[in-house]
Amino acid sequence: MSSEEDRTKINWDYRFRSFKGWVPVIVLVYIGFTQYAFCYEFLYNELNKTLGRRSVFIGLCIVHGWLSFTLLSSWFFIFYFGPGKPPGKVKLFDLEKYVRTGNILTEKLNDNSMVSTTDASLNDTITRIGSSLTIGEDEKAGRGDNNNNNINININDTNSEKENEGFSFIDPPEIFFCDSEGLPFWCSTCKSIKSLRSHHSSWYNTCVPKFDHFCVWIGDLIGYRNNQYYIIFVFSFWLLFLFDVISMICFSSKLHNFGKTHTLHPVLIIMYIIDCFWFTMITSLVYTTVKHLINNETTMDMLQINKRRKYLRDDAIKKTGTWRVMMQILRGYNIDDDSVVTPYERYINIQHPVLSNIRLIIRLKQDEKPYKKDIWSNIKDTFLIRDKYKSLDNSSSILEFDNESFSDNFKSLINDKIQKNDFRIMSNVVPTNLN
Ligand SMILES: [Zn+2]
Repeated sequence: MSSEEDRTKINWDYRFRSFKGWVPVIVLVYIGFTQYAFCYEFLYNELNKTLGRRSVFIGLCIVHGWLSFTLLSSWFFIFYFGPGKPPGKVKLFDLEKYVRTGNILTEKLNDNSMVSTTDASLNDTITRIGSSLTIGEDEKAGRGDNNNNNINININDTNSEKENEGFSFIDPPEIFFCDSEGLPFWCSTCKSIKSLRSHHSSWYNTCVPKFDHFCVWIGDLIGYRNNQYYIIFVFSFWLLFLFDVISMICFSSKLHNFGKTHTLHPVLIIMYIIDCFWFTMITSLVYTTVKHLINNETTMDMLQINKRRKYLRDDAIKKTGTWRVMMQILRGYNIDDDSVVTPYERYINIQHPVLSNIRLIIRLKQDEKPYKKDIWSNIKDTFLIRDKYKSLDNSSSILEFDNESFSDNFKSLINDKIQKNDFRIMSNVVPTNLN
């Protein structure tokens, strides 16, 4: 895929229809103003001409110029590359056969009065009963005979593609993110499964892999393709303000104007105030950017977790009162996350480790991060992701990459959950015997 095709098109008309679109223009005007105030008024007029500090003037000019150049060029590259779009479409998953076997298994567990609901033996029972749901040729239409332990389900067609009502179906990957029913997320505009942590952007009218957020200051969406330039942008912006404010603090008292009237040039006072405001804003931005980088998470991931956190907090306040919840938060405890199906939950759909025809739905807690590896791997993931995406072109390569991006820690955490019976069998039948 060439870089031209890969680039998402900027919709200029749509962009300037709202105030949001104009914010970057204001930021750009301010950057222009600091060039005038800092370089001309402060460095050239005061330091160089009035105080005669020529070497300081040149030194500060070089650092300020270099930081401004990094800032503006990273901004340019954020637009030039754009957030990126999916390397290809991912076809619908053929989950029907898993639901069918899941129905039979759940019904058997419901019917069987011998099934123990104690933690250890439930897993064994599922494996024992599930193993009898063996591969066969006869049963294609639907459910099998409940009295017969050897239920035959046709699941021979692995790696096959099916056609149904104009949609083609493929076999699901080992793990994928799903809704509470176990179904993957589908983008009806792009006609594709939302893979590679993508979300649909109405601004670009495409799904964007590793969708981070829309940065109002920059005026562009941050995705997998421009994420690394965004990080450079945030850092150079922060360093620029830090550098400008520190240099002004160091030399203010020596300035010609300050010595005479004990006040600064009005332009420098304005710059001081605005810089301090920007500096606080960008310090919090630097903090979240670093946090996301070392945890391999996107702003979008965080937003979803925060929604859930807020829901749990409000729910707990309703039940136990504000004071108790506040104390719990102040002591650093997370609000209890063990409740049954509630809004904003995250689920994954995973192949049963032993039973090839059964899929499980597992709920994730707030602090369970699927992509978090060691710090170095997380940083590498963000900076090298563009090259990795270049080799992806069809459904299977995209899904394979998707499965590889889950960390080993996360996979063993999921295995622990399976061992502890912390899952639901994917089916249409409501379990009664299970907890
Ligand atoms: Zn889409």
